[in-house]
Amino acid sequence: MALAWIVVAVAACGVLWWRTDAAADRAQACRVPILMYHHVGDWGAPGDWAPWVVKPADFEAQMDWLRNHHYHPITMRQLQAHREHGEPLPPRPVMITFDDGWGEDMWIARQYLDPRGMPTVFFVYTGAVGAPGYLAWSDVKALEAGGHEVLSHTVSHPNLQQVPDARLASEMRDSRARLEQELGHPVECIAYPFGSYDGRVVKAAADAGYRLAVIADGPSATDASPALELPRWKMAYGEPLPLFVQRLRAP
Ligand SMILES: [Zn+2]
Repeated sequence: MALAWIVVAVAACGVLWWRTDAAADRAQACRVPILMYHHVGDWGAPGDWAPWVVKPADFEAQMDWLRNHHYHPITMRQLQAHREHGEPLPPRPVMITFDDGWGEDMWIARQYLDPRGMPTVFFVYTGAVGAPGYLAWSDVKALEAGGHEVLSHTVSHPNLQQVPDARLASEMRDSRARLEQELGHPVECIAYPFGSYDGRVVKAAADAGYRLAVIADGPSATDASPALELPRWKMAYGEPLPLFVQRLRAP
């Protein structure tokens, strides 16, 4: 009799273990580290720009690490389909993002992303597209044709917490309308400039038709992250690869 109870107890533990393990796998599958980059370059001794630049050798090492460890870069469209319609994500999802739409994005795509087959999300502010030092509309379209995704970063890159309601609404609405006109598909995600947002900004994003928005601080996004406040890891100058790996694997 005692033996029978032990058998039952062991079997129950096995089921519990299996359920816990499966739940852990599902939780893991829904965790998406979103990486925020701005520039790739060797700018010498670190300055106050350090949070916005990553050295080329470091960026290359990070992309190689992702590829060698079977991470799958996803687009915002994939994340939206997952969150809204339960579409499965690939194993070990990660999202690579670049802000501002600098002209060097074309070089970054050609040099590092395209050879590794890594689709990337570029957030551009539409008022700068075509200006010296920034992407042209032909570049924006070429990035999308190459499998990348271009999304909104407002019209003029203001601190959205500091602009009046009418300007807040137009920054949201007009950048989306221009991108949709140029790209010919819905643009339903925005990156708040400077990662600056509050409840009023989030409501304005929703009112303008955005379904997802990203901020500028970690940790990794999960299915539980608010849709209009998805966290991102800020990738900074001279950070060692082990720190990068630690972020990727952080719970
Ligand atoms: Zn920006």
